[in-house]
Amino acid sequence: MRFSRYFVPTLKEAPAEAEVVSHKLLIRAGMVRRLTSGIYSYLPLGLRGICKVAAIVREEMNRAGASEVLLPAVQPADLWQESGRWEHYGKELLRFKDRHDRDCCFGPTHEEVVTDIIRGEIKSYRQLPLNLYQIQTKFRDEIRPRFGLMRGREFIMKDAYSFDRDDEGADKSYRAMFDAYCRIFSRLGLKYCSVEADSGSIGGSFSHEFMVLAQTGEDLIISCAACSYAANVERAELVPPRAEDIDATEPGEIEEVFTPSQQTVEEVAAFLSIQPSDIVKTILVYVDDSPVAVLVRGDHEMNEVKVKHFLNGQVLRFANPDEVKKLSGAPCGFAGPVKLKVGNIIADNALKARQGWVTGANKEDLHLKNVSLLRDAKITEWGDLRRMEKGEPCPRCGAPVDARRGIEVGHVFKLGTKYSEALKANYVDESGEDRPIIMGCYGIGVSRVLAACIEQNNDEDGIIFPPPVAPFEVMLLNLDVKNEEVSAKADEIYEYLAAKGIDVLLDDREERPGVKFKDADLLGSPMQLVLGRKGLERGIVEAKDRRSGMKVELSLDAWDKEFADWHAQVLEGWKNS
Ligand code: ATP
Ligand code: MG
Repeated sequence: MRFSRYFVPTLKEAPAEAEVVSHKLLIRAGMVRRLTSGIYSYLPLGLRGICKVAAIVREEMNRAGASEVLLPAVQPADLWQESGRWEHYGKELLRFKDRHDRDCCFGPTHEEVVTDIIRGEIKSYRQLPLNLYQIQTKFRDEIRPRFGLMRGREFIMKDAYSFDRDDEGADKSYRAMFDAYCRIFSRLGLKYCSVEADSGSIGGSFSHEFMVLAQTGEDLIISCAACSYAANVERAELVPPRAEDIDATEPGEIEEVFTPSQQTVEEVAAFLSIQPSDIVKTILVYVDDSPVAVLVRGDHEMNEVKVKHFLNGQVLRFANPDEVKKLSGAPCGFAGPVKLKVGNIIADNALKARQGWVTGANKEDLHLKNVSLLRDAKITEWGDLRRMEKGEPCPRCGAPVDARRGIEVGHVFKLGTKYSEALKANYVDESGEDRPIIMGCYGIGVSRVLAACIEQNNDEDGIIFPPPVAPFEVMLLNLDVKNEEVSAKADEIYEYLAAKGIDVLLDDREERPGVKFKDADLLGSPMQLVLGRKGLERGIVEAKDRRSGMKVELSLDAWDKEFADWHAQVLEGWKNS
């Protein structure tokens, strides 16, 4: 491709709304442009990056025995009503009506559509197992679209669906996808890990997420260096207090204490000269529209995902100040479990460790001392309801865990029969009996992968693409476009590289060398070749490894060998990095 006729609108400054480095660089490098919140156009360079990622994904999916399809983006509501998700999916599902007033949605995921195909076509055990995948645009009306391609509303996903006769087969399919994902993310040059995950609104029995480690990641990963346990914090299991760690001493009588305008745990702790860990936080929420009080220790955080699962709920929202007043009788900050008129009070296991607590009094400006949750409150159920923190004991081996940030780039689920039962996707087994097909589903955020890749590979000058993802592996800079000899040589090298199957962008613009150097660093091709009048006179091309910054001169007389050696050396450097 020739830069002079290519469309790469680079920018010196990133727009103010771009917070993370991948978003800034995708815009500055002219790879994407924002149309509206969470919706982006892919410009030529961005599209090339996407296609590079997609090509690797496609190769590995095909290698794993999956067949590519392309399913409709617009889906009828009836299918979603059949699976039960029309009610439950929430506002992320973009719903609309067609001209005949029929409800439709834009697919955020495709379990329903693919199961509909399978129930129509698969009759016998002989047709199984099967795995269908696609690479396609999804729409999710995210509440907080942000970070550019990282969390868009419209984004590109690879989604695959496996269909098996039995659990054993389904586990094999799951393993095959898991292994394919490892190959994909390794080939893409990403530093990643796989973690145990929550199955979210897709449902199902177990799942793993693939996380790219990055400071800007929205997910928190708990990992244990002593054993190999790793889990999303949404899922990381906490061990309940051991019997020998429980202090069963019953406290004295409950006492009311005056805590004027002390609403937060920290304020109350400071005011009463106690620790946040001496306080029980009472959090009032609605799960599927029923009020619930969730109790956690003052220094702990409630885990919304765990609470939702614990109650078999779909949607959790916090009570607003009016609702808090209605439920507890007091303004925010003074709710407590004693005589609370909420039917469902659930308590985190950590609160079993002792008896005497400080809690809200359900009266303005008052708290209670010496509260025993066993004696003074009506706890419906105890459970694991909070977030694990760095340094807490690993649920497998007890060693202190680490917490790191990550970007979820892929997710594999074992679904079981959730969709096949709802949509009646059955097959006839060897003995002539009807059985539901066992399913799995497997997603990769193709557009998010491109962003994650930039997040992990950049410096102050711009992007540093790993060779497999780079829109162009080589950028060839012609510093003297007006000089015929230089231009002829640049064209010759360009043709040479193209013939070798190397993607090359020739900067043949009438621009100052400084502009070309800056743009080359910004666009992030892993290899740069620079040809100018002076170099040509000396018979050399300057070659720069974008990642290490190392420059060498390649002799035009021994071009074949010198280029091949340097090219191999740069690739080798990436492999070992
Ligand atoms: P998240 O927790 O980040 O919202 P999810 O659990 O909803 O992700 P899945 O339904 O498993 O995601 O979708 C499969 C993959 O699609 C994810 O692993 C992620 O890489 C990608 N993805 C999901 N939502 C978005 C989005 N809003 N923008 C870009 N990529 C996304
Ligand atoms: Mg999501």
